[in-house]
Amino acid sequence: MIPWLIPAYLFAFGLCIGSFLNVVILRYRPERSAFALTPLTGRSHCMSCGKTLAWYELLPVVSFLVQRGRCRSCKTRLSLQYPIVELLTGLIFLTPLYFYDPFMRIYSIEVGWLWVLAFLAFLVIAAIDYYWMIIPDELNLFLVALGFGRIALQQMNGTFGVFTGSFAGSFAALFGFRSDVVVNHFIGAILGILFVGAIILVTRGRGMGVGDLKLAGALGFLFGWPDIGLLLMFAFILGSVYGVYVILMRAKKMKDAIPFGPFIILGALTLMFYGKSLLDLYFRIFS
Ligand SMILES: [Zn+2]
Repeated sequence: MIPWLIPAYLFAFGLCIGSFLNVVILRYRPERSAFALTPLTGRSHCMSCGKTLAWYELLPVVSFLVQRGRCRSCKTRLSLQYPIVELLTGLIFLTPLYFYDPFMRIYSIEVGWLWVLAFLAFLVIAAIDYYWMIIPDELNLFLVALGFGRIALQQMNGTFGVFTGSFAGSFAALFGFRSDVVVNHFIGAILGILFVGAIILVTRGRGMGVGDLKLAGALGFLFGWPDIGLLLMFAFILGSVYGVYVILMRAKKMKDAIPFGPFIILGALTLMFYGKSLLDLYFRIFS
């Protein structure tokens, strides 16, 4: 097998799943279930002029570039959401290669695909929260289900312990609750809810809502402890930096709420891909 063929196939497949996610995100309405499939049937059409799209107008990213981001019939600008979600989904399908470990082949492949499912949920959660300031319960429950999947995989493969099973690596040993994988993930869920709940009480619900609380619980169960604490800390740092930027730019008045869900998702990604390096840097500076 030609080595680059696998990533190329994965990426192309991801682009196609991405165009499906675009439809899921655009046709979401708060009053019905996020997974109600009825509104997903029917052929894709221009949101502006209603013209049914031909197959060559449905090619992920390519059609957007060829048409220079406009509808072929009415020339209305197409949302940048289309190529962004498609490209991100393409990247998501490359992540099993990132998690692949030749010494734990089967386990690392299972873990890789579990995270693909989680990342797809992250993407839809961030997009729906961005548009509607709502995080659908179904998606939080999906993350909880993946949390059970992680517990099962770690128990079957014995990959949980004081120094493993956390994106904080050996730093996880500093935070406790690492003798039992099930206890660890339940503690993660409870502490996630308590942290965000405390902030909602202190800020009287101006910064975050019940959706963020449920997301923190679901992610706490998926990531366990201390990952959920670190993840939320990264989310608050990123959210504050963005908040200050917005106020300085006066793009929004202070009373306008900014959806926090996307920052929680970014916090999760920061933990997963940079957590260990950032902790390493922190302890090298402050100890
Ligand atoms: Zn049109």
